[in-house]
Amino acid sequence: MLYEHLGVNEKGHLTIGGLDATALAEEFGAPLYVLDEDRVRANCRRYTQAMGASMPAGSQPLFAGKALCFKGLYPVLKEEGMGADVVSPGEIYTALAGGFPPEQLYFHGNNKTDEDIQYALDQGVGHFIVDNPLELAQLDHFAGERGKRQKVLLRVTPGIDPHTLQAINTGRIDCQFGVPIETGQAAAFVAKALTMEHLEGEGFHSHIGSQIFEAEPFCDAVDILLDFAQGLRETLGFTAQVLNLGGGFGVRYQEQDPQVDIPGNIRALAEHLEAGCKEKGYPLPRILLEPGRSIVADAGVTLYRVGGVKTIEGYRSYVTVNGGMTDNPRYALYRSAYTVLAAEHMGEESDGVYTVAGRCCESGDMVQEEVALPPLKRGDILAVCTTGAYNHSMASCY
Ligand code: PLP
Repeated sequence: MLYEHLGVNEKGHLTIGGLDATALAEEFGAPLYVLDEDRVRANCRRYTQAMGASMPAGSQPLFAGKALCFKGLYPVLKEEGMGADVVSPGEIYTALAGGFPPEQLYFHGNNKTDEDIQYALDQGVGHFIVDNPLELAQLDHFAGERGKRQKVLLRVTPGIDPHTLQAINTGRIDCQFGVPIETGQAAAFVAKALTMEHLEGEGFHSHIGSQIFEAEPFCDAVDILLDFAQGLRETLGFTAQVLNLGGGFGVRYQEQDPQVDIPGNIRALAEHLEAGCKEKGYPLPRILLEPGRSIVADAGVTLYRVGGVKTIEGYRSYVTVNGGMTDNPRYALYRSAYTVLAAEHMGEESDGVYTVAGRCCESGDMVQEEVALPPLKRGDILAVCTTGAYNHSMASCY
């Protein structure tokens, strides 16, 4: 099995956290998103424990709500000692409705509207991650109107390519997020921030990409950020208290994907940071990470009901399900790989390779291609694993 919280019971049915997947589909209907809370908690602890043990006091993982955002998740995150990264008033609203403390929220976004900024200020959001100089000016203005001094991190791009998909790779220079270090614009961004009366600079943020399996690209980002920070300490007298290294640790979508040792990578990153600071004589900053996928992806499974099997002679066989790109657009967007299981026929021999298709009027509406499956009939349940991240939050009403 892909993960230890998935299993097979005596009926030959898939189990998720010990519960029979078929029984869940019968009780709640399908399509159904299932999320294993224990797994979410265990994933949070891999971060909180490793960061607590090896990183400077006050270091913290922030759950990236863009991966999955609903009210019931936030009490769990709070109990597990996570902070939260939010990217919209909707995410702020949801987190607060779930009882999450506003001071533990970090507000992202490359185009925060005036309404967004004011809403976040009025809700007492603890930290803004400012994307660009224009936002600095707007935020300073609205914070001033409210007699506030707002804590900010400045988003910079270190120019690292961690070899992930173009669409989910955000640390390169040429991208719409943050301000590049290499062109000198990031230094000017910091200089401007320091002139703002109503803002308090805490440090820097960078996010280099997603589906990263080792510590190395993060260590490279630390090197670049520390050089940058050291230069600014000398020229502007500003010392960053915080480095936020973004999200990005990978998860296993298929058996052949590597296992990622998150605690080991966190320890390696902590050692690298400590050595870098020592060498430069730079005071150790607190570290923030923003894991999304690695907290919720593997805790989620989507259950679909099979509509039928259609074979196009000489071409291929399609299994149609009663969901698709509406609940999971990732295959249609970037051919994301998933593991698909026949929930009532676990362990049965496959009789061929199928394309699992959704039911939208779009030829690209596929869940997965080339899936080995046993013989299926109308009404059977198909389970797609690792759908806890970027499925519900990317779902549409198409
Ligand atoms: N932080 C930022 C700024 C992001 O853009 C993303 C994802 O796009 C994340 C965190 C979460 O990344 P992941 O889900 O890969 O951990």
